[in-house]
Amino acid sequence: MQYRTDWAKQDILDLFQQPFMDLAFKAQTIHRQHFNPHEVQRSKLLSIKTGACPEDCSYCNQSGHHNTGLPKEKLMEVEAVLAKAKEAKEQGATRFCMGAAWRGPQAKTFDQVLAMVEGVKGLGMETCMTLGMLTKEQAESLAQAGLDYYNHNLDTSPEYYAKVVSTRTFEQRLETLDEVRNAGINVCSGGILGLGESREDRAGLLLALATLPEHPQSVPINMLIRAPGTPLENAEAVDTFEFIRTVAVARIIMPKTFVRLSAGRAEMSDETQAWCFFAGANSIHMGETLLTMENATIDQDESLFAKLDLKSLDLEKYKQRQAAESVA
Ligand code: SAM
Ligand code: SF4
Repeated sequence: MQYRTDWAKQDILDLFQQPFMDLAFKAQTIHRQHFNPHEVQRSKLLSIKTGACPEDCSYCNQSGHHNTGLPKEKLMEVEAVLAKAKEAKEQGATRFCMGAAWRGPQAKTFDQVLAMVEGVKGLGMETCMTLGMLTKEQAESLAQAGLDYYNHNLDTSPEYYAKVVSTRTFEQRLETLDEVRNAGINVCSGGILGLGESREDRAGLLLALATLPEHPQSVPINMLIRAPGTPLENAEAVDTFEFIRTVAVARIIMPKTFVRLSAGRAEMSDETQAWCFFAGANSIHMGETLLTMENATIDQDESLFAKLDLKSLDLEKYKQRQAAESVA
């Protein structure tokens, strides 16, 4: 499958509608053209500033607009974050992701954030931040500090977005992705399934991602965690096979992108996760907490990986393969 950014929504809907076994087979075939199907990249995601967010994302227990009872915590000290990064590295994570419940970074603490990037980089890990919307200057400063990835999820289709968030627009999310890409930082952007969206919306989300000037280097596919106190706490669960189809379509249309099986794994069966890996998912967040929510534990992941003969991505070997391919 060649690398395309000119997808049409109908192309994506046609993929969704393929017979499930054909779609899964096509996704696994394309996956093997670009990745070792036995490897999964493992990241660790830490909440460095928790709760009292000014945005009103209807899925999020960190929003100050919802009564979720989540205690708020101010920005962590740099040393405390580096201690957590060291722990994650010992547990096998190759990337350390730091998330803040902000609309965007604040000037008074931005140097502290930059010091976290430099410190984690100094541990020999890939660095990722997800801090909300960025200005051009902020993106450039993060790039100078050595940031490898910036996460900023589009979350759903442009058409459905206003039903999920009202304090910012889909367009503003795209503007931040432009600033991140233009600063030379790898883009991590994906979405959430189970927000009440339709298949057309799921196709719309993937269309927005796969028609960016460059495919995101990583695409997290979250399954909604129905957080108590949020407007979506009683949302209807997305069908498991619709979730797997979305992973497969993401793999097919963004063949070189890391597709991350992100939030929701604590509630996912081993079988569902196995199908997602077969469909081309090749990255996870590890550790029992994902920001402020439950995640699959390290023991559960070790047991699943053993059953599926999966191992952690060897980042150096992957980068060497990439470099060899780029000169070929
Ligand atoms: N505040 C920053 C932002 O929104 O970009 C970064 C942190 S935010 C919590 C990171 C991502 O986690 C969100 O973009 C969303 O995709 C995902 N997320 C948040 N709450 C979730 C939930 N209840 N279920 C699944 N995914 C969720
Ligand atoms: Fe704030 Fe991010 Fe949660 Fe939205 S998803 S409420 S921006 S922390």
